[in-house]
Amino acid sequence: MSTPTPRAPMLSTAEALATLLSAASPIPGTESIPTLDALNRVLSVDVTSPLDVPPMNTSSMDGYAIRTEDLATDGKRRLPISQRIPAGHAPEPLKPGTAARIFTGATVPPGADAIVMQEQTEATGNEVTILHSPAPGEWITAQGADIRSGSTILPAGTRLTPQALGLAASVSCAELNVRRRVKVAVFFTGDELTMPGEPLKLGAIYNSNRFTLRGLLEKLGCEVTDYGIVPDKLDATRATLREAAQAHDLILTCGGVSVGEEDHVKPAVEAEGRLSMWQIAMKPGKPLAFGAVRRAAQQADAAASASAETFFIGLPGNPVSSFATFLLFVRPFVLLLAGMQTVAPRALSLRADFTQKKADRRNEFLRARINPAGGLDLFPNQSSAVLTSTVWGDGLIDNPPNHAISAGETVRFIPFSELLN
Ligand code: AMP
Ligand code: MG
Repeated sequence: MSTPTPRAPMLSTAEALATLLSAASPIPGTESIPTLDALNRVLSVDVTSPLDVPPMNTSSMDGYAIRTEDLATDGKRRLPISQRIPAGHAPEPLKPGTAARIFTGATVPPGADAIVMQEQTEATGNEVTILHSPAPGEWITAQGADIRSGSTILPAGTRLTPQALGLAASVSCAELNVRRRVKVAVFFTGDELTMPGEPLKLGAIYNSNRFTLRGLLEKLGCEVTDYGIVPDKLDATRATLREAAQAHDLILTCGGVSVGEEDHVKPAVEAEGRLSMWQIAMKPGKPLAFGAVRRAAQQADAAASASAETFFIGLPGNPVSSFATFLLFVRPFVLLLAGMQTVAPRALSLRADFTQKKADRRNEFLRARINPAGGLDLFPNQSSAVLTSTVWGDGLIDNPPNHAISAGETVRFIPFSELLN
């Protein structure tokens, strides 16, 4: 009787992620740049507001500014109009016993404590009849109601969205302090790889991962150096690693990390640095290589981190495997390097509108999409080579190991919108 070959211990997705992320910390290097150019950059310091927003009490209606006590004390409803205050003009204090014509966004005159909207008044010449008894503060946006001077409006580690840029601009920040962008070198291995547009020899395939991975890195805001296809030779691979280590924070490769692969990435990284090969109990994916490449002291680029090493991550070559392992592992790693604090994607709980009878030993990440009824449909072919599933789908179902899915069951769904930014 033959004894089974012992398997390398498999890490759970969570264990692998925790180990990987514990190695990442923000890269050094910050700069001050115009707010208009800061989209997608990561703040290196808190942004605090130098002013109150709104900077004064403002009217949120077109109408009349009054003193509520004028109405309450003698029941007076008919008031002379003592001034007119368009937005952007400084008011006079409100004379007791009068109303001020006022417009949306205009400064409430000192002394007034409520706005009566024009629909609840009748104006006749220089007088206005108030038809409503407002509560004090009605239709007034108080100074500082949105933002108080000195308060933090955007904490360090925030990635700047268009709305964050607008918020910074609303408190007069013309420049922002941000971290430098993460520098990533990427290359591809495999003698079968051919560039799109070139004729395909027998046994060859197009280098689709180059396009997917570069796009993913660029969407995360990385500065990418693409070394293209590196010949499957130890010397060439070592030379590329040495060169890439100089001025990058991370070297990312694709292909040749499966066990037993005839390939030079693994020995090349071992010779130029250190490498751990992980078998992760996930599908698609499984192999992931993590390590570092030494940086020669004289090579340390002033702009890059002062560290003596550059991180290395080797992704599997299968297009869906490299896509999924990038989204689940490389994305949060890169965002931590970039200085972000919150990197976990937010998942949704959605109903499975399909049945998957067979449970897998591994943690599956199934390509699925949201149907018009709000449930999830499964792409019929879940093979790790079928890139069509990644375009058809809206995200990944995170299906735990040994779990079959019945129609109607609630599953954990991570939308691509959470994973591609
Ligand atoms: P490997 O991880 O090198 O064993 O490759 C696994 C599978 O992915 C093989 O079928 C490769 O041909 C394919 N593959 C590797 N690299 C790429 C790439 N850059 N683009 C598309 N397919 C690839
Ligand atoms: Mg290969």
